[in-house]
Amino acid sequence: MDKLQPIVQPLLAWYGQHQRKLPWRNSGNAYYIWLSEVMLQQTRMAAAVPFFLRFIKALPTLEALAAAPQEQVQKLWEGLGYYTRAKNLQMAAKLCLEQYGGLPADYQALRKLPGFGPYTAGAVASMAFSLAYPAVDGNVLRILARYCNSRSPVDEPAAKKAAEALLAAVLPDNPGDFNQALMELGALVCVPAKPDCVSCPLQIQCAGFAAGEQNSLPVYKKTASMRVASRKREKWTVLRFVHNGFVALERRPEKGLLAGMWGLPMLEGHLRQKEVKDKIRAWGLEALHIKPLPPHKHVFTHREWEMIAYSVTVAAPTPNFVWQGFTAPLEKAVPSAFKSFLQDY
Ligand code: SF4
Repeated sequence: MDKLQPIVQPLLAWYGQHQRKLPWRNSGNAYYIWLSEVMLQQTRMAAAVPFFLRFIKALPTLEALAAAPQEQVQKLWEGLGYYTRAKNLQMAAKLCLEQYGGLPADYQALRKLPGFGPYTAGAVASMAFSLAYPAVDGNVLRILARYCNSRSPVDEPAAKKAAEALLAAVLPDNPGDFNQALMELGALVCVPAKPDCVSCPLQIQCAGFAAGEQNSLPVYKKTASMRVASRKREKWTVLRFVHNGFVALERRPEKGLLAGMWGLPMLEGHLRQKEVKDKIRAWGLEALHIKPLPPHKHVFTHREWEMIAYSVTVAAPTPNFVWQGFTAPLEKAVPSAFKSFLQDY
């Protein structure tokens, strides 16, 4: 069970020297640590830092996050995508305050909160509260597959469980540093495309490197092309209603993709101009002029939207939409799926 024991000291020593300075790192602030981890599930480190700073400037504490209007949280999340994470973040903040008076220093309690899978709970428990739990994500699985020269697919659920067990057996007194050291190694050295084995503190013991297999690992059961092929494709017609420099936004349903977000109205299928003209009467709108916009494809994790779009100048605005100044910064958080249609007025 202590197969990974030899990595502990070299990894911690390397981390002591090479860790990047980050606004949440070594802060001891559980809220910062949690927020940064959720953001890092969405974007790279360099991109996450400005989002993080903007977020904590507006909502500096767990209490502020819990009390903020949902739309403010969405707006602060804009650009990161996958808004469910922002929703879960706020729901979890409210529950934490109601039930524990703050983020609980208890792995099982963390796991029960919205958005806390084993990785996030392990990361927060270890980094914020020094609790001995591993935090296994794709980076860690990649390092271990190479280190152990394992050709077991890392996208099988069993791989994560096995990695968690191996790591749990060797967690040192400072599990937060250890988990961060692994993540940092995955980000800076044992990177996906070309691991920098020459600079790696684990090189001497690394079985993948010894076998010359570091570039062929890890192995995935589902290839990238299989993942693309399994995505559901949907056709949509997006409508950009404009009137006197204002554009119509509507709130999406509370369930489904981009639930509760503000977006442009959409109709199922790829419709012709004539069909659009007929259909929009149901919204109480009269089209004065219609022009097609460049199509756009938006890829979600399990779905793809193939969108064509029309810009429709309407005779008068209707109250069933929010009419937002076209050139003014958008007050509402609008998902990136719609952003290309909001340019080039
Ligand atoms: Fe990764 Fe290379 Fe280090 Fe092995 S030696 S852990 S393959 S960077």
